[in-house]
Amino acid sequence: MSNAVTDPTLAKSDPTSATDKPMVYVNGKMLPKDQASINVFDHGLLYGDGVFEGIRVYKGRIFKLQQHMDRLYSCAKAIRIDLEKHVSRDEMIAIQRRCIETNELVDGYIRLVVTRGVGTLGLHPFRCPEPGVVCIADQISLYPPELYQNGMRVVIAERPRIPVECLDPGVKSLNYLNNILAKIEAIDAGCLECIMLNIEGHVCEGSGDNIFLVKDGEMFTPPLSDGLLGGVTRRFVMESLAPLAGIDVTERHITRDDLFAADEIFLTGTAAEVIAVTRIGKDEDSAHVVGSGQEGPITKSLRLKFRQVVTGDSIPED
Ligand code: PMP
Repeated sequence: MSNAVTDPTLAKSDPTSATDKPMVYVNGKMLPKDQASINVFDHGLLYGDGVFEGIRVYKGRIFKLQQHMDRLYSCAKAIRIDLEKHVSRDEMIAIQRRCIETNELVDGYIRLVVTRGVGTLGLHPFRCPEPGVVCIADQISLYPPELYQNGMRVVIAERPRIPVECLDPGVKSLNYLNNILAKIEAIDAGCLECIMLNIEGHVCEGSGDNIFLVKDGEMFTPPLSDGLLGGVTRRFVMESLAPLAGIDVTERHITRDDLFAADEIFLTGTAAEVIAVTRIGKDEDSAHVVGSGQEGPITKSLRLKFRQVVTGDSIPED
């Protein structure tokens, strides 16, 4: 452990000592980690009323920054937060760059949170005069490294994904309880992720990732209308990596049976990147084995291509 952590005098004299990090942006201020807090009357806390983004930083650049900004501003609009009126896109980008710089982040993860803001104890969203903005630039590790080599087991959640008509999963809102409760089903079964179905029984996505399957050399993924988040990584796989690998991708309904007949299945996400699903089921011993039971060749080539891009010389910020 460094002196900065053990010696309280050193910690005080250094404005950004190890104990303070990450410095967090909260409503206009950069605050040390343990002072970074929000007002208890913020509707983000009281009602999960807000939206957020999870964004990767590779080599100091913000991966797919513009697409994350598009999604953040359109999700805010979808829940009637007029974000542009309070914080412009350029300001939002400047906040993120400031957090990266202050925390000397090279590779890491940004969590950007926009809340309805501070209001009264009632639900009324328009009694919150201005949205809250929090930006945390830190590290994330979603799945252990060995799962990227060996693939992971998942369960099919019994709890369906919330229907589009109730709360569109395409809106990345602060209401993640549907996902969390489904993820608990996975954790109870000794694994880390689940596949969620919509109320019609079609596959949507994982609790925090999108899903693809490979059958006879082609890739398939559910359409957004089946109730899933339009993932930035999903789009990158569909528009860049799959064409590079010469593989066709089709959006169509995916059933439980399709999962069991798939040659390969993989998940995509900002935190997850690209990871193979090699077994499906609640029980390690009796779980269905996907394809060969190993990470398949198409998944592997996409995963490696993804790594190549994000460790390369031109990390895309588009
Ligand atoms: N679905 C859900 C429910 C998620 O939370 C995430 C993570 N943001 C994804 C899919 C993947 O989206 P992205 O590639 O933009 O991270």
